[in-house]
Amino acid sequence: MKSHARAVVIGGGVVGCSVLYHLVKLGWRDVVLLERSELTAGSTWHAAGGMHTLNGDPSVASLQAYTINLYREIERESGIACGIHQTGCLYLAANEREIEFFRAERSKARHLGTALDFIELSAARRLNPLIETSDYRAAMFDPHDGHVDPSGVTLAYAQAARNGGAEVFKHTPVTGLTPLADGGWQVHTPKGDIRAEYIVNAAGLWAREVGRLMQCELPIVPMEHQYIVTNDIPELAALGREIPAAVDFDGAAYLRQERHGLVLGTYEQDCRHWAVNGTPLDFGIELLPSDLERIAEPLGRVMERMPALGRAGIKRVVNGGMVFSPDGNPIIGPLPGYPTAFVAAGVMAGFSQGGGVGLAVARWIVDGEPGMDVFAMDVARFGDVANRAYVQEKTRENYQRRFILPCPNEELPAARPTKTTPVYDLLCDAGAVFGAAAGWEVPLWFADSRANAVEAPSFQRSNAFQPIGEECRAVRERVGLWETSSYCKIEVSGSAAADWLDTVVANRLPAVGRVTLSPMLTSSGRVLGDVTLARLAPDRVLMMGSPFAESVYLRWLEQHANAADVQITSRSNELCGFSLSGPLSRELLQSLCDADLSNSGFPLLAWRELVIGRAPVLAMRLSFTGELGYELYMHPQYQRHVYNVLLREGRRCGLRLFGVRALNSLRMEKGYGGWGREYTQDFTAAEAGLLRLVRADKPHFIGLDAVRAQKGVPPQRQLRLLAIDSVNPDPGGGEPVLCAGRAIARLTSAAYGYTVNHSLGFAYLPARIEPSDDGLEVELCGSRVRARVLESAPYDTAGLRLRG
Ligand SMILES: Cc1cc2nc3c(=O)[nH]c(=O)nc-3n(C[C@H](O)[C@H](O)[C@H](O)COP(=O)(O)OP(=O)(O)OC[C@H]3O[C@@H](n4cnc5c(N)ncnc54)[C@H](O)[C@@H]3O)c2cc1C
Repeated sequence: MKSHARAVVIGGGVVGCSVLYHLVKLGWRDVVLLERSELTAGSTWHAAGGMHTLNGDPSVASLQAYTINLYREIERESGIACGIHQTGCLYLAANEREIEFFRAERSKARHLGTALDFIELSAARRLNPLIETSDYRAAMFDPHDGHVDPSGVTLAYAQAARNGGAEVFKHTPVTGLTPLADGGWQVHTPKGDIRAEYIVNAAGLWAREVGRLMQCELPIVPMEHQYIVTNDIPELAALGREIPAAVDFDGAAYLRQERHGLVLGTYEQDCRHWAVNGTPLDFGIELLPSDLERIAEPLGRVMERMPALGRAGIKRVVNGGMVFSPDGNPIIGPLPGYPTAFVAAGVMAGFSQGGGVGLAVARWIVDGEPGMDVFAMDVARFGDVANRAYVQEKTRENYQRRFILPCPNEELPAARPTKTTPVYDLLCDAGAVFGAAAGWEVPLWFADSRANAVEAPSFQRSNAFQPIGEECRAVRERVGLWETSSYCKIEVSGSAAADWLDTVVANRLPAVGRVTLSPMLTSSGRVLGDVTLARLAPDRVLMMGSPFAESVYLRWLEQHANAADVQITSRSNELCGFSLSGPLSRELLQSLCDADLSNSGFPLLAWRELVIGRAPVLAMRLSFTGELGYELYMHPQYQRHVYNVLLREGRRCGLRLFGVRALNSLRMEKGYGGWGREYTQDFTAAEAGLLRLVRADKPHFIGLDAVRAQKGVPPQRQLRLLAIDSVNPDPGGGEPVLCAGRAIARLTSAAYGYTVNHSLGFAYLPARIEPSDDGLEVELCGSRVRARVLESAPYDTAGLRLRG
């Protein structure tokens, strides 16, 4: 056994071996993998090996495409066969909703460059003559998909890594993890200890147990998952070729050929968690007892649609533990509070995602950042709500909905409400339709009554279209109120706080009493954060941002906090908030407090302590709608009072409550980008148009070197705002932008602009595209509509309304 390694990967399933391989590929040689048993001994050995590119999240979909393309390379490098069967996959739709989803995905796939496309049902039947197509209404085919040999892939990753200098120790369980003063780890095994600079928990079915070795509870849990293997099917044997894999969404089933039989798995409604409290340490290379009863219903449905399958009979049933996270995506990255302890777990589609996960984790370790937007997989993304009960509820929902295709306006109900604010019931009474953001209930829009507060899932404009328009008009013409309690609020304090924070954010810190906007950049100049900073005192700064970003920001700040006298404290649960916005907002606020709210008394980008009614409020003069506006923060015990006072007085000026959908539309009309959409680690500050908020003349901040290096080099692509001639549906983000029929970008976000009367979308377009180019189109659910680049924001370009 070695006594020291730069990185120790714990777990030799497909994911751990991929991480090891990618560390070597990035140039690290002194890397070790420890496996408690044999390689593949967790979920990996019994997986069905299916691989697919299709995924609702574009970043995850591109990592899936990367994974599939990697198999031939690791075969070559290792000399071990991966059993690649690139048979393609048929996706079958049996109802209108599935067809609409297909249309949307087909459009989105253009930007990924995948060959996913519709085919006639007759062509589907020619590809798979076993299918009785009368139940199906549409089919898509992706020629890249198929299946691989799970063991072959895992061994190939490991061997290719070994060829590059990595070492693999089998039958070496990690039994303890001790953090060291130098930031490294002492990794304990029965064969001796290894000192490591970095550890990676890739222990799959036992990732929770390895997490607990360092007192860390991971938000994952295994579910039982079953597939059957049929006896030989004479029709298949007679075919003389392999049929493509298939996914029947309505039947909640997937299948692929295995020799002359079929492998058929289902995502049944009557699903079960397994080993909820922890995976037994003595669980070996074994299966769980089969329970065909539970999957009888989906099996029966597929057999009706493929009668030959019913006739074949079942040869074998495989029931194994499959690890799920609350949203079904992997959990990767440095664990909050442990910059050198990484996780690469919760991967329930290891053969579609394992390569991409390995690449992202290895880059994150080697470069200190993943080099791309991996928020959809970031272990920090669930914030503080992902306790055991939450994980149980969400994973059940996720399993059950694995093949139920979501509509763009759909909000999932499990584990809700979790976080509510004191005005929650008042907002319900006012007709709020809620969505969940980092566990918070957030109003999306308001119906005219509580009874009408429902929205049918749809790919078209829904019943929310008109009320959202009215909300936007109220903000533009009078005054609107929306609840901002979910915003992340982090206080950085201490005598060294300001000097230190100045080295983390790219803009200059505001003076006391003032507010500023600033990007936070990674070392390579990518956009990690987009925050509002309020200087409360010389030694106190309040940082605000997207609700989803809180844990990512906290982890980043804590990781870089090297000064002793810097305290970083989340205030998100202690401060509720409202945004009051619109031309009459000052008049309304002034009627409720004595302070001087004139432009000189309370200028733009300033904060003041106000008393509204009887409540102390921290008010900031800024707004994301582009109108004169204020953000108001108060302790929860005052929130109802502030709400009631604002609503009572607001009646005189026509105040209307609005939700996040209206906000999205309003901010796009002003050309404001948003975190997680426009501002992600896929893009640099220069590409994002954020250099106006970057002070390259500061002596130091994270990303400064990259900003200086990029200076004078025109970015290859640039964030642009597009006017889009959609009628119905409207774009919502993710749709491809085409130039002369070729996909050149995707919309990062999009919304209908009710003031400008057309849709708007952001996209990172190649720099050569000029506003005058008139060959641009956006593909929306299969139809193409004209788009043109706007030279500036279409609403209040001069920013006069914001200045009030
Ligand atoms: C029935 C079934 C069918 C599936 N079909 C598919 C499919 O078609 N396509 C697909 O992409 N995915 C499929 N999956 C999912 C797939 O199996 C997983 O995504 C994948 O195996 C996860 O790999 P992993 O490396 O994360 O975890 P694991 O395979 O569980 O590997 C973890 C490894 O860590 C080791 N380990 C644990 N604790 C320690 C320790 N303390 N010290 C050292 N080593 C340790 C274990 O022994 C194990 O080898 C299926 C799963 C099931 C259950």
